[in-house]
Amino acid sequence: MINVDPLELEKFSQLAHRWWDPGAEFKPLHDINPLRLDYIDGIAGLRGKSVLDVGCGGGILAEGMAVRGARVTGIDLADKPLKVAQLHLLESGLQVGYRLVAPEALAREAPGGFDVVTCMELLEHVPDPAATVQACADLVKPDGRVFFSTLNRNLKAYILAVVGAEYVLKLLPRGTHDYAKFIKPSELAAMCRAAGLSVTGITGMTYNPFSRLYSLGTDADVNYILHATKQ
Ligand code: SAH
Repeated sequence: MINVDPLELEKFSQLAHRWWDPGAEFKPLHDINPLRLDYIDGIAGLRGKSVLDVGCGGGILAEGMAVRGARVTGIDLADKPLKVAQLHLLESGLQVGYRLVAPEALAREAPGGFDVVTCMELLEHVPDPAATVQACADLVKPDGRVFFSTLNRNLKAYILAVVGAEYVLKLLPRGTHDYAKFIKPSELAAMCRAAGLSVTGITGMTYNPFSRLYSLGTDADVNYILHATKQ
């Protein structure tokens, strides 16, 4: 049994050609990228590290981490976004190793193979997020860092992330997110602990619709990043 929802892969594949258009469907990923890069780099120190980006899509974060001097591998189960990621390397001149492989399968092939594992905006798209968390934990070295970002599950998150972002502001295509798959920080923390990770921090990512800017802070009600260390 492979931990993937084919409809989710199809959704991302259909939009793949728009991945690097900073004003199109993936605009929110472009907008949050500098913030999450600073956050990850500040904690993990990316230069010289081997980093795995799980669910890398078209490679926005993977390339950003390569710019900061990390040796990056990006994996995804959707073929088209990976092809776009590969093609974009011709434009950026960066080096990232892209592979179509499930994190669970790579964890069997290369356990403890990476200094840092990032898994951003993916857990809310998989059938069994705990299994993905376990695979990420297995893929990182002891004392290595793992970063997850996802959407919190509460009324405010539903109103802002689904109604606001998809229907009112149209920041994301309708149907991008399924509220039932959103994950509370306490639930993600429990998945981490069960996978042998200790949670070392949670930070919120908020969007201001007036300034149209994202920022990091203590408000984890909607979007958040959790980082954990392998014990
Ligand atoms: N992490 C990237 C892209 C997020 S979009 C970023 O934050 O910039 C979610 C990505 O997860 C898509 O590329 C989709 O194809 C991928 N995905 C969905 N289910 C997956 C699974 N089970 N395993 C690996 N990747 C998956």
